[in-house]
Amino acid sequence: MIYIQVQFTIPNISQYIKKVNTTLLYFLTKYVKILSYTDTGSDNMLSNFHTHTKRCLHAYGSEEDYVKSAVDSGLELLGFSDHAPFPDYDFGYRMPYSELEEYLAEVNRLREIYKDKLTIFKGLEIEYHPKYSDYYKILLEDMKLDYLLLGEHMYTESSGEIKNIFFAESTDDYLSYAQSVCQAIETGFFAVVAHPDIMFINDHKWDNNCEKACRLIAECASANDVILEFNANGFRRNKMLYSDDIVRYPYPHKLFWDIAKKEGVRVIAGSDCHSPDQMYDEYMKKAVHTAQEFGLKFVSTIF
Ligand SMILES: [Zn+2]
Ligand SMILES: [Zn+2]
Repeated sequence: MIYIQVQFTIPNISQYIKKVNTTLLYFLTKYVKILSYTDTGSDNMLSNFHTHTKRCLHAYGSEEDYVKSAVDSGLELLGFSDHAPFPDYDFGYRMPYSELEEYLAEVNRLREIYKDKLTIFKGLEIEYHPKYSDYYKILLEDMKLDYLLLGEHMYTESSGEIKNIFFAESTDDYLSYAQSVCQAIETGFFAVVAHPDIMFINDHKWDNNCEKACRLIAECASANDVILEFNANGFRRNKMLYSDDIVRYPYPHKLFWDIAKKEGVRVIAGSDCHSPDQMYDEYMKKAVHTAQEFGLKFVSTIF
C-alpha cells in the first residue's frame, strides 16, 4: 500500500470534502500539497495506533522503547497516542502540558531514525469538550499531529458538568456519554473513537439505555465515517461476573459490536499499551482475532 503524506492549505478539511464531493479532484489538485510517499507494503499490515508512554504518569517506557517493541513485533505502522494535556486544565492521568513539545519532537526524531523499519504517526488520545475546539485545531494544523484519538474518559453532560465514565451512576449516564461522543465525532477532529464501549466497565444491567447509547455511537460513527476501536485493554482487565449473571470482559462488549456491525462501521484494533511489552501481546492478538471473528469491517490503518 502506498501512503501519501499531504498538507492541506485550508482548515476543516473533512467537512469541506463532504460538501464538495463532486469537485473533489479539482479541490485536491488545487489545495493539497504532496509532501512524501511511503510504501508500507501489503494491505494486511500489523499496526497499532493506540500507544502510551511514561509521560502520562501511569505507563512505563520511553517513546523509543515502544518503537523497538513495535519493530520486534513486526509492526509496519505505529501511532503514538499518549494522553493529551490541556493548556489550562488537568483532567488527571496525563502528560504535563510542559512536556507536549518534547513528546512531539521525540516522535519526529524517531520517525526519521526508524523510517526504514516502520512508519510512525504522531497523535494524542484526547477528551472532547466543546470549549477546546481551537486547541484541537492548533494540535492538528499548527503542531502537525497526524491524528487525534477520541479517548472520552471524562465527558461533558448537556448541563456542562464534567463526569468520569468509569463511575456511571446508572445507564442514564451511558446516554449522556453517547451524546457527548457523538457531538465529538461530528466536529471532524477525531479519526478514531477509542474504546467506544468503555462504559460497560460499570456494573449495570443491560437495558434500553444501553441499546440506545450503542446505537447512537455506532450510527454517528457510520454517518461521519469515523473508525471505532476494538480495544485490547478490556481483555487485559480480565473477565468478571456482572450483576446480570453474565461473565464477560468489561469491554469489548459483544452487544455493542453487534450493533456496530449492522451499521457497517470500520473497526481497528488498538493495543492501548501502557508498557512496551504490551505492544502486540496476546491481548492485542486476541483483539485483532475477535474483531475479525465477529465479522466487523476490519481495517489495519486509520488513514
Ligand atoms: Zn483511553
Ligand atoms: Zn489509551
